[in-house]
Amino acid sequence: MRVLLVGGGGREHALALGLVGDRGVERVIAAPGNPGIAGIAELRDVAAADPEAVAALAVEVQADLVVIGPEAPLVAGVADAVRAKGIAAFGPSAEAARLEGSKTFAKEIMTAAGVPTARAHTCTDAESTARALDEFGAPYVVKNDGLAAGKGVVVTEDRDAALAHAQECGRVVVEEYLAGPEVSLFVVTDGEAALPLLPAQDFKRVGDGDSGPNTGGMGAYAPLPWAPPGLVDEVMRDVVHPTLAEMRRRGTPFAGLLYVGLALTTAGPRVIEFNARFGDPETQVVLALLETPLAGLLHAAATGTLAAHPPLRWRDGAAVTVVVAADGYPASPRTGDVITGADRAGIIHAGTRRAADGALLSAGGRVLCGTATGPDLAAARDAAYALVRGVELAGSHHRTDIAAAAVEGRIAVPD
Ligand code: AMP
Repeated sequence: MRVLLVGGGGREHALALGLVGDRGVERVIAAPGNPGIAGIAELRDVAAADPEAVAALAVEVQADLVVIGPEAPLVAGVADAVRAKGIAAFGPSAEAARLEGSKTFAKEIMTAAGVPTARAHTCTDAESTARALDEFGAPYVVKNDGLAAGKGVVVTEDRDAALAHAQECGRVVVEEYLAGPEVSLFVVTDGEAALPLLPAQDFKRVGDGDSGPNTGGMGAYAPLPWAPPGLVDEVMRDVVHPTLAEMRRRGTPFAGLLYVGLALTTAGPRVIEFNARFGDPETQVVLALLETPLAGLLHAAATGTLAAHPPLRWRDGAAVTVVVAADGYPASPRTGDVITGADRAGIIHAGTRRAADGALLSAGGRVLCGTATGPDLAAARDAAYALVRGVELAGSHHRTDIAAAAVEGRIAVPD
C-alpha cells in the first residue's frame, strides 16, 4: 500500500511512525512533513488545506490511501477532493468535520442525539454573553465557535476576562463548567462500525498543576490506570453510536477519527468537545501502544470495511509524552533557535525545520515531544523525561508533572 500522509506536526510524525511500521505499507509520502518525518518517509511540499492540490498529489504519487492529520484540511474539504479522484481517504468530509469546525453544530448534534454534554448557549453580542455567563455562574467557560487550534477556549473565574474573550471571538459558545478528570477517547470509524482506541489523558494548561493559559496540549499518557472499567463501553453506547447515527440520519456520515473529549463528572461522563481527527499529543502515546498495523486499520475505516476488521491488539505497559515548547509559548512563541539532542528514537518533531546548513531549528510553539513506553506508567514517565532532558533549546519550557498524579494514584473519579 502507498500512503500519502497530510500534515507536518507531532501527530503526523507519530502517524508516520505507525504507518512505516505496518508491513503492508510499501511507501509513505508525507506532505509537507517535517524534519523528523524526513528520517522515515519521503517528503513532498503541498498546501495541506488546498483540496485540489492534495488530490492532485495523491493521484501523482498513486496513493492507495490518504491519511489527513490536521483539522484545517478536513474542514476545507480535502477528504472529499481525494475521494472524488477515486482514492481512499482517512478523514471525514467537510460536512462531517463540522463536528469540530463549529462548536454550535457539535452541540446541535449532541442535543439531537441525546448525548450528555454541558448546557450551552451560542452568543454573538455582549448582552446575551453576559446573560449566559450569569445563568451558568463561575467558573466561566467561553469557546470560540470556529477552529482555533485548541486555543479558543477560556476557562476563568474572572467574569470580565470571560466577556473580553467573547468580544474578541465574535461568535462564542458559553457553557456550564464540567468538573472532573478529563479523558480523550479516539474512535476509528467508517461511519457505522466503530473501534475505540485506548483512552488517554492530555494536559491542556501550559504550567505545572494546570496553571496558566490553555495550549494545544503539553503532554499525555495512556492507558489510564484510574479509569472506571466500563468507561469505554459506556461512552461508545451513550456518545459515539448515537452521534454516528445522527450524522448518518442527516446524510453526512462521519468516517475517520472521532475524538471524544470527556469530563468524568459526578453525574457521569459528559462530552467537552468533539474533534474530527487524531489529537495531538495523545496520538503519540496511543499509537506507541497500538500493535495492530495502523495502515490496515485506517484503510478499513476509509473503505467502509471496518466491521470486518479484527479486534485491536495493544502492547502491555504504558506510554508518556512530554512536549517541549518554545520560549513565549503559547502567547508569542519565539522561533528560529537551534535545537540539539533531538536525533534520538522517541523524539517526535512538532514544530521544527532544517536550516540550509543542516542545523535543526525551532519553527513553532510546540517544538517536539519526548515519547517513551515502559512496563508501567512510572517507567514510561521516567523514560520520557530522560529524553526531554537530553534536548537543548534556548528558552524552552516543559511541564514537569505529566502523568505524575496518575503514577501517584492522586486522581479520583467521582462516584
Ligand atoms: P476544548 O477546546 O473545547 O477541548 O477546550 C479546551 C479545554 O478547556 C478542555 O480540555 C478543558 O480542559 C477546558 N474546558 C472546555 N470546556 C469545558 C467545560 N465545559 N468545563 C470545564 N472545562 C472545560
